[in-house]
Amino acid sequence: MTPFRYRCTLCGLSFARDEVRYLCPECSRGHRTGRPLEGVLEVVFDAKELCTAANNRAPDEDVFLPVERRFFPPLAVGQTPFMGAPRLAKELKCSRLHIKNDAANPSGSLKDRASFLVVAEAQRLGIGKIVAASTGNAASALAAVCASAGVQAVIFVPASAPRPKLVQMILYGATVVPVEGSYDDAFALSLEFTAEEGGLNRNTAYHPLTIEGKKTAGLEIFRQNRDTVPDVIVVPVGDGVIISGIHKAFLDLQAAGIIERLPRLLGVQAERSDAIHRFVQSGTYSDALSPYTIADSISVRTPSNAYLARRAVLDSKGATVIVTDQEILSAQRLLASMTGVFAEPAASATVAGLCKAITEGSVDARESIVLLVTGHGLKDVDAASKGVTIPSPVPPDIESARQFLRDRRP
Ligand SMILES: *Cc1c(COP(=O)(O)O)cnc(C)c1O
Ligand SMILES: [Zn+2]
Repeated sequence: MTPFRYRCTLCGLSFARDEVRYLCPECSRGHRTGRPLEGVLEVVFDAKELCTAANNRAPDEDVFLPVERRFFPPLAVGQTPFMGAPRLAKELKCSRLHIKNDAANPSGSLKDRASFLVVAEAQRLGIGKIVAASTGNAASALAAVCASAGVQAVIFVPASAPRPKLVQMILYGATVVPVEGSYDDAFALSLEFTAEEGGLNRNTAYHPLTIEGKKTAGLEIFRQNRDTVPDVIVVPVGDGVIISGIHKAFLDLQAAGIIERLPRLLGVQAERSDAIHRFVQSGTYSDALSPYTIADSISVRTPSNAYLARRAVLDSKGATVIVTDQEILSAQRLLASMTGVFAEPAASATVAGLCKAITEGSVDARESIVLLVTGHGLKDVDAASKGVTIPSPVPPDIESARQFLRDRRP
């Protein structure tokens, strides 16, 4: 670990590690529900120390992490597979396409990375209870990491979250409070609960280490891509923390003197959950008024990290695109059948978004492109089964099997 401070992304004030916990006390003062968080804190390392630490040995990811290794929970999070996708590349007419498969995390999504670091921080502080609001994955991730560390998780989720995600978090032993309302309602309620009842709040962007945790996916992409920066990384965007975390990874590598240029980030949102996309396009923020999408993990009315997400897209000279639910479902099937990676709808949106960006011209098919697969398809089988017909059974004899195959021939 390299020494660091927290810096407010809005006013630039900086704080010592234990001087602040969540947002900038100044900038968050006027916060109202229904607005993106203001005064989100970023971790700033001493660039000189970072260079030294990075030069002294092969830069181990924990040089870039703001919690000491001895507080890490014993769950194996991250170090997920990175692989070429030649059949999908051919289908999309891309020349260099890779997949970073974060569905391979213990609870099945990239959210494990953020939960891991926040639970480590709770261990450092000696706090035995962690509170969070989630569309589903952050909560299952928190529940899993808390189970491994022996910490209590109190979770607020919209009652409409996919069942497998609810089953997961309950099985991991979390206290689950289903909320009659949206994710945004659960978010507000969890903040109020933490303020009154205590515990460490893990809400995305609200706790600055959620961004740092998600950053580890970007650090791994760099290393697994043979220490080279891809041209484009495609990231599904809900609250906008993953995309900010990926950007932060490359900013840190730049500060450490390891890389020169940054990858362009392509943020993908669902058609109706498009607040960050419109913010990037117009420079003016407004909520997504009815953010329904089959991609539940990116269904957000008020993205809490809208400001930083916009900055990550603009600073990296990237772009955003929106995709329809129909495009997401087709992309899910294409991804599964061309790569063997079964991704949940939010994660599959990257494939649909890449197609659109190539058509619109913001990505060139000859560039080196990485798709960030953020969550496992089995987390929402109901969504996936919308495009699937399971055949009726046949009697167990060879003639019936032959007949079945003859009938299925187009
Ligand atoms: C949370 C999540 C996202 C979006 O991440 P944000 O940080 O909210 O933008 C995308 N895909 C999956 C599977 C997720 O769980
Ligand atoms: Zn501030």
